[in-house]
Amino acid sequence: DVPKIYVITPTYARLVQKAELTRLSHTFLHVPQLHWIVVEDAPQPTPLVTDFLAASGLTYAHLHKLTPKDRKLQEGDPSWLKPRGAEQRNEGLRWLREMGAAAEGKEAAALEEAVVYFADDDNTYSLQLFEEIRYTYRVSVWPVGLVGGMKFERPVVEDGKVVRFHTGWHPNRPFPIDMAGFAVSLRLILTNPQARFDGDAQMGFLESSFLQHLVTMDDLEPKADLCTKVLVWHTRTEKPKMKREDTLQKQGLGSDPDVEV
Ligand code: UDP
Ligand code: MN
Repeated sequence: DVPKIYVITPTYARLVQKAELTRLSHTFLHVPQLHWIVVEDAPQPTPLVTDFLAASGLTYAHLHKLTPKDRKLQEGDPSWLKPRGAEQRNEGLRWLREMGAAAEGKEAAALEEAVVYFADDDNTYSLQLFEEIRYTYRVSVWPVGLVGGMKFERPVVEDGKVVRFHTGWHPNRPFPIDMAGFAVSLRLILTNPQARFDGDAQMGFLESSFLQHLVTMDDLEPKADLCTKVLVWHTRTEKPKMKREDTLQKQGLGSDPDVEV
């Protein structure tokens, strides 16, 4: 068998959630040996995600971890104020380490080869990306499109090595890489139990807070034709307007709440 890809996806309830998860799952259904770790930002698993996953046709783990209120963006806060999805990604890491500790024999050997990727629910992923990252010895990296106020950000490769980063902002961060731009071998995650995302990290430092525990720039493995191809896009979905829904609701004519959207 080819190495497994464990994909950790934080997700939270909002109008577009099921649409995002549908799109994402239809990508993942095309990827062999993918195990989806879905972590809801919720106090308990929701019926929507529970039913969705059961019908998805994917192999998955369904977890939940509520972001504490003081760590969550409040209505009206600028979007850069607090990192999103940190607690959920850490919960995914916890699950992996628990699974890793329990594995024996052939199962444990297979985990040695596996790779972990953090896939937000709203990005757009090329199928080719997964074949690029499947063979990751430590940490692999590649360009991300439409991110950081740029057409793309990417590691710059010279003589097969990452020497710096093409980014519009704070290039001297330890790892100026978007969450969508790296994958980590499961072995490295299991042998470095202290590696986690710092939910209090400054804007743009969440990825660094995790990767610093695992590698140096010298270790990074460039993928996607030496980081010359964009295979993932940091797309964001517009919040749907509910103006007419609100008006109708006041007249008692809102959309049937029993219909799941
Ligand atoms: N997310 C979450 N709880 C929140 C906000 C976001 O679990 O309160 C998840 C979201 O579903 C996504 C990830 O965290 O998978 C990153 O969030 P978002 O896409 O909003 O961040 P951005 O694209 O703006 O960096
Ligand atoms: Mn996003």
